Amino acid sequence: MSLADLSRYEFARPASLDAACRLLSDREKKGARTVLLAGGTDFMVQVSQGGAAEGPLPLVLDVSRIKELACVSFDGTTLRIGAGVSYLELQRDPVVREYAPLVARMTQDIGGPTIQGRGTLGGNLATASPAADGVAAIAAYDPVIEVKSSRGTRKIPIAVLQTGYKQTSRAADEVIVAVEFRAPAHGSAWCWRKVGTRLAQAISKVAFAGVAEVHDGRVTRVGFAMASVAATTALLPNTRELVRLTPLAQLTAAAVDAAVASDVSPQDDVRSTRDYRMHTAKAVVRGFLRDLGAPV
Ligand SMILES: Cc1cc2nc3c(=O)[nH]c(=O)nc-3n(C[C@H](O)[C@H](O)[C@H](O)COP(=O)(O)OP(=O)(O)OC[C@H]3O[C@@H](n4cnc5c(N)ncnc54)[C@H](O)[C@@H]3O)c2cc1C
Repeated sequence: MSLADLSRYEFARPASLDAACRLLSDREKKGARTVLLAGGTDFMVQVSQGGAAEGPLPLVLDVSRIKELACVSFDGTTLRIGAGVSYLELQRDPVVREYAPLVARMTQDIGGPTIQGRGTLGGNLATASPAADGVAAIAAYDPVIEVKSSRGTRKIPIAVLQTGYKQTSRAADEVIVAVEFRAPAHGSAWCWRKVGTRLAQAISKVAFAGVAEVHDGRVTRVGFAMASVAATTALLPNTRELVRLTPLAQLTAAAVDAAVASDVSPQDDVRSTRDYRMHTAKAVVRGFLRDLGAPV
């Protein structure tokens, strides 16, 4: 299978989300395969590697023009980011820059400009790679993921969406519509660190996203997420709890390191080693906490 074989795929571009859901539902009932297409930056790689070619070719259902997937909004509390908004649009969006600067910053480290112009959070979430930078960035905000099918709409917490290596709890007939989360208080601290072989066009050895609201030396809201240190995006529950329960001035490097070590299970692979990833995971969390004033 090569890119030249793309013309063998059946292709549909529904005009609305409802029409897309109806089509997906009809095909599911017939047992026919469908693959959604947003920016195509993961899908085209799968096609060129022959990965999408097992069994009969799926229908390619293009969701890139569906307007319900294309907007960003803020109601004073909750930020909503459409699954089909490209990384470049997120980078430039004034609402994202204001209320989720970590997300805007992360987009600069995704692939290169061409990937940023096409790739979307919906595709990043659906592919569910443990190295997904976009998933790590939004996971630090504890989002819910809105999915829709002809059976209705569900809002799935990120921890429930991720079920295993490249696996999610999204059903085959569900479209990821948007990501929603409560924006942190204005001026809250945030951190994005991507450690890779190069600054651009590199899959993360480790990527770290952190957000924190700090009052009187205590962290009152905290969100951490990390890519490439476990089978799914790691949400670091033990580290979050330690930081929430301990005044910043009483945090120790040893306690932080132990919490991080208990939250991640990195592996050796072609990009890095388990030991380097473990060392880096501890270092990036301590770096953020030092910025908040902790003596770690
Ligand atoms: C050169 C290169 C560099 C890259 N660099 C990075 C990087 O630095 N960091 C990183 O995290 N990723 C990177 N990627 C991977 C990819 O760009 C991202 O995962 C991107 O977010 C995928 O989005 P997309 O819209 O292109 O998805 P697509 O390729 O269109 O779709 C990917 C999968 O998601 C499904 N899907 C898409 N939209 C929806 C939806 N709304 N609802 C349900 N399912 C949906 C599709 O059916 C498909 O299975 C890179 C890829 C390439 C080719």
